[in-house]
Amino acid sequence: SHRITLGPLVAAIDQGTSSTRFLVFNSKTAELLSHHQVEIKQSFPKEGWVEEDPKEILQSVYECMERTCEKLTLLNIDISNIKAIGVTNQRETTLVWDKETGEPLYNAIVWLDLRTQSTVERLINKTPGRNKNHLKHKTGLPISTYFSAVKLRWLMDNVEEVRDAVVSHRAMFGTVDSWLIWCLTGGKSGGVHCTDVTNASRTMLFNIHTLDWDPELCKYFGIPMEILPRVRSSSEIYGLMKSGALSGIPISGCLGDQSAALVGQMCFQDGQAKNTYGTGCFLLLNTGAKPVISDHGLLTTVAYKLGRDKPACYALEGSVAIAGAVVRWLQDNLGIIGSSEELEKLAASVGTSYGCYFVPAFSGLYAPYWEPSARGIICGLTQFTNKSHLAFAALEAVCFQTREILDSMNQDSGIPLTQLQVDGGMTSNRLLMQLQADILCIPVVKPSMPETTALGAAMAAGAAEGVSVWSLSPEDLSEVTSEKFEPQINPEESELRYARWKKAVQRSMNWET
Ligand code: ADP
Repeated sequence: SHRITLGPLVAAIDQGTSSTRFLVFNSKTAELLSHHQVEIKQSFPKEGWVEEDPKEILQSVYECMERTCEKLTLLNIDISNIKAIGVTNQRETTLVWDKETGEPLYNAIVWLDLRTQSTVERLINKTPGRNKNHLKHKTGLPISTYFSAVKLRWLMDNVEEVRDAVVSHRAMFGTVDSWLIWCLTGGKSGGVHCTDVTNASRTMLFNIHTLDWDPELCKYFGIPMEILPRVRSSSEIYGLMKSGALSGIPISGCLGDQSAALVGQMCFQDGQAKNTYGTGCFLLLNTGAKPVISDHGLLTTVAYKLGRDKPACYALEGSVAIAGAVVRWLQDNLGIIGSSEELEKLAASVGTSYGCYFVPAFSGLYAPYWEPSARGIICGLTQFTNKSHLAFAALEAVCFQTREILDSMNQDSGIPLTQLQVDGGMTSNRLLMQLQADILCIPVVKPSMPETTALGAAMAAGAAEGVSVWSLSPEDLSEVTSEKFEPQINPEESELRYARWKKAVQRSMNWET
């Protein structure tokens, strides 16, 4: 059989909270040629705890790579055309492993996990003026359960294997990107222990101005610096794949998932923004070479640094903990839907929440409140309320949370966004997209190729290997096909609903005190 030649291909590992994917793109057209996806199990061993198995995560990556290669071969596409692999990952999720045995020393503590709530409260109480923004000038972040440093501190305080390994200089810390790159480049026999600036900027140990680990921050959290990975740019060769069908191919791109989506959505200009709807929901605004510190509850984070000698770009970020996760909850915990796809039909059958408001503060509230003691509430119930209204309220909750961060962003930047670029698993829900346009009162624009996170990582990887994905000329950009959702309800109605939502949010606060 004849093999099709396409020119250089670029690939990405997309390790998300709910699933792992491997995707291969044609670098000339950014067309997705093949991919494979595997679900990841989450365990909830105690109330507020969320863990994943590091070995299952690694296995899922190998499985996705193998299956994608098989699919490419069936399509007569030669896998030796793959020139570079990028990694993009769920951010903040914290792992510690033993560099001699290669074994994880505990499960991965997932970003949503709340076990560090009391530690966080203690840390905040010790700051002058009980100020959760005490470390913001260096990190861009409030002290919160969300970021890696407190999770790592918990592991060192509570897991004997971790403590022993730290004492005997065998421990390695990493977010998911570091764990994967270390394993894929050889693990205990010569694996590369590194991370990129975007992932590092979510640990709370990283100075976003100097772009390096910060000794003072490490001291503050009691973290020995020798267990930290080396920080690299988001686009350079970290190492080569050590085994499997893709052995020898460079891993040359690394970006936290939200940064990768910003790149994949081509938001390279100051003032461009995207919102990704996955397990959580993350709105990032490119602020260019300058880190902007928010006055309205947003985070300042490193957006990307596409090459060792390239400047870093920064972003303002509004993070919402629970978006798609509320869909999973309706499915797994309440059983009112059999799959996430069913939600849209159920909600559309009524087309209104009938005055029901659902604040899914399962992990406290993130932006703009940063309130770990908030808990979920459903209010406005009447005899008339049924599961369809609840489904609708869940979708609205995602939209209202986005409205809150968009408002903060508009206030911080002073230039209101005139439309919102979106992506992520939940954007296949058309009712959600329409509701979002209605609640924001601006158009919502969704690209026809939804895998923008993976595309961003593949682009970064390609760039380091001299393979430019998409030539990025204005003509090329105009070819990016997309779908636009225009606001359809009147702004007064939208404001009325939003005001009710705000009232519901107030009622969810200070529950766990
Ligand atoms: P992540 O990167 O966080 O793993 P994804 O971008 O893969 O997330 O999106 C998966 C999330 O989107 C899941 O929480 C799932 O419940 C939700 N989701 C997927 N399809 C739909 C849909 N049609 N309607 C509502 N939610 C959906």
